[in-house]
Amino acid sequence: MEQTLKILVVDNDKIECMALCSILKKTGIFMEISEVDNLNSAIAALTTTCYDCVFLNIPLPEENYLTQIQTIRCSQISVPLVIIADKIEQNNNPNLIETGVTEYLSKSRLSPENLAQVLRYCIRLYHAQMQIAWTTEKLRETNEILNQQHQQLQGQKQLIESQKLKLLEASQLKSEFLATISHELRTPMNAIIGFSQVLLRPLGGEITQQQRDMLERILNSGKHLLRLVNDILDFSHLEIGKFNFKPQIFNLSQLTYSTVTEMRSLAKEKKLSVLVHNHLQNPLVFNDPLRVQQILNNLLSNAIKFTESGYIWVEIEELPENQIIIAVRDTGIGINTTDINNIFEAFWQVDRTTTRKYFGIGLGLAMVESLVQIMGGKITVESQPGKGSIFRVELPRQILHSLPQKMNSLSPVKMIHSCQKIS
Ligand code: ADP
Repeated sequence: MEQTLKILVVDNDKIECMALCSILKKTGIFMEISEVDNLNSAIAALTTTCYDCVFLNIPLPEENYLTQIQTIRCSQISVPLVIIADKIEQNNNPNLIETGVTEYLSKSRLSPENLAQVLRYCIRLYHAQMQIAWTTEKLRETNEILNQQHQQLQGQKQLIESQKLKLLEASQLKSEFLATISHELRTPMNAIIGFSQVLLRPLGGEITQQQRDMLERILNSGKHLLRLVNDILDFSHLEIGKFNFKPQIFNLSQLTYSTVTEMRSLAKEKKLSVLVHNHLQNPLVFNDPLRVQQILNNLLSNAIKFTESGYIWVEIEELPENQIIIAVRDTGIGINTTDINNIFEAFWQVDRTTTRKYFGIGLGLAMVESLVQIMGGKITVESQPGKGSIFRVELPRQILHSLPQKMNSLSPVKMIHSCQKIS
C-alpha cells in the first residue's frame, strides 16, 4: 500500500487511544490518523471525510458492540470497521460480522504486525465488497432492462399473434370468397359452352361461316375461362381444406400417355414435339389420378406455353424406396436465378406486365406445389435462361390414406429450386 491511508480511531480512553495510534504508526504503512472519543463525533467525521479504515474501541460497560456498529451502518456509512475489545466473546463473533464489522481484534493481540495484517486484509476485503456491490448493482440494472425488453417482446409477440390471426381470418375469407365467386361463375360458363356447342352442331340449324367462326371463338374463350375458374376454385378449396382427394390404384403409364395425347394438339399448333420416356417396370401407383393428371397438365401446358421451338420430354421412372419421378423438360425460355424461388407463389409470374406475351394467372405451379406436398412428395426445378427448364416431381408410389386436409397446416416440404446448366 503505497498511498497514505486515512485512519479514524474512535476511543474514549485517551491513554489507550495514544497506545493504539503509536502501534498503528509502527506498522510501516503510510497513514494520517484522526482521533475522536465518541460515536457521534465519529459519525460526523465519517460523513464529511472519506476514511480508509475505522478502529473502534469504546469499551463502556453499558454499551454493546452490536448497537455501536448498527448506529454507524444505519448512517449509510460504508468503510472498513475494526473493533478493538478487551475480550471478544466467541459466541458473539458471527453476529458482529453479520452486523457489518469487517474484522475484530482483542487488545491482548495488539502489535504492529497484527495491525498491519488486519489493516491490509480489511482494505482488500472492503474493495472486493465494493466491487461486488457495484457488479450486483450493474446486474440488477441489466436485469431490469432485460425484464423491460422481455415485456416489450411479449407485447410485440402478442401483437404479431393477433395480426397473424387476423391475416389467417382474412385469408380464409378471401379463399371462401374466391370459392363462392368461382362456383357462381361456373354455372353461366357451362351454359355458354354448352349452348355454343349446340349451335355448332348441324342440328342447331343453318349458320354462315362468319357465324361459325364467332361461335367457335365463344366456345374456345368459354373453355379457357372455365379452366381459369376451375383453377381458382381448386386453389381456394385447397386453402380452406375443402379439397376432394380420392386415392385409388391406377396405371401411371396410361395416364401419362393419355394426358400427353390430349396436350399434343396444343403443341402441334406451335410445331413442338412431345416425347414420352417411360422407364417404369411397374406402372401401378396408389394416388388420386385426377390430381396427378392435374400436376402433369400444368407442367406440360407451361412447357408448351413457354417454348417457341424444340422439344418437350415427359419422363417417368422409378427410384429406390418406392418413389416415382415425373419429369417435364422443355427447350423453352427458361427461368433466371432471381425468379426461380418465386415461381411457386400463387399469382406470381416472371412477366407481370399487362402487355405480357404468355397468358395465365400464375396459379398453376402454386397448385402443383400444394398437391405435391399433400401427396408427401417434393418438386424441384432446374433451369437456364434461353436453354429450357426441367421440373421434377418426386412422389411416393403409394400415398397415405389419411391425407392432410388443410393446406395451411401442412409442414412446408423443403423445395430445391436451382438454376443449373441443362445438358
Ligand atoms: P402461369 O403459367 O399461369 O403464369 P404458373 O404458376 O404455372 O402460372 O407459373 C408461374 C410462372 O413461372 C410463369 O408465369 C412463368 O414465368 C414461370 N414458368 C413456369 N413454367 C415455366 C417454364 N416451363 N419455362 C419458363 N418459365 C416458366
